[in-house]
Amino acid sequence: MAYYSDFHSHSDISPDSKTDMVDLARAAADKGLQELCITDHWECGSPCYDWQLRKKPFDADRLLERFAAAQSAVGDRISLRLGLEIGNWTQDEAHAKEGLAIYPFDCVLCSLHTIKGFDAYFFDYGCEDIEPFLTAYMEECLELAQKADFDSFAHLTLPLRYAMIHVQRRLSVDHCLDVVDEVLKTIAQRGLALEANTSGFRTLGEPVPSVSILRRFRELGGELVTIGSDGHNEQNVGSYLEETQQALRESGFKAYATFTKRKPILHTL
Ligand SMILES: [Zn+2]
Ligand SMILES: [Zn+2]
Repeated sequence: MAYYSDFHSHSDISPDSKTDMVDLARAAADKGLQELCITDHWECGSPCYDWQLRKKPFDADRLLERFAAAQSAVGDRISLRLGLEIGNWTQDEAHAKEGLAIYPFDCVLCSLHTIKGFDAYFFDYGCEDIEPFLTAYMEECLELAQKADFDSFAHLTLPLRYAMIHVQRRLSVDHCLDVVDEVLKTIAQRGLALEANTSGFRTLGEPVPSVSILRRFRELGGELVTIGSDGHNEQNVGSYLEETQQALRESGFKAYATFTKRKPILHTL
């Protein structure tokens, strides 16, 4: 029987979600998921970190309190895990490590939202000379892949999704495949996981990163992949899991991973 897990989700502990963790967990259980990992944002570096602090300081006590509330609300209907999405690790490593120390997390996601401090969400994706921006993004991802302490690298090639959302433009990172390969090799050689982010199905018709990059990861020796919706609400949590499992099969994977106390557990695809 297929095993459905979502290892990337956000509750209102994150500044960009309004969904209480209890509602998020209930929604995932109602959709028939066996496992959900909540991975709220812990952002490093300016300006994102300043923005997050001003708007909604990370409330670690509330994180643990809502996690306990969610566990008692869903009981044994679904296994709940607690993770953290650490953004922009190399922009403030000391801060990143403070995040890790909050709790013995089940799964730590590594991601890049800001390129040298510039929020990728606000880039002008309609501009002509976009390749240097995408190359800079991949180069900083390489730095993270080399230096950050994490379990799975989340939404690699995120700007391609933003370009589709903001200006309906389908871009690629084909011009800097050498850097992409280095990122994938580094993750593979460290024995870490690459995330297949299901949010791509809402915009691009495939996961983020693409099937071709997931396949390349496999070819370069990557063995671990996780699946995450990046859902910030009840509607998106647990979405497109079957489609993403199929995309992973097409990419050459026979199993995908979940994490408990940062140890991978494999599930047949
Ligand atoms: Zn993210
Ligand atoms: Zn996220």
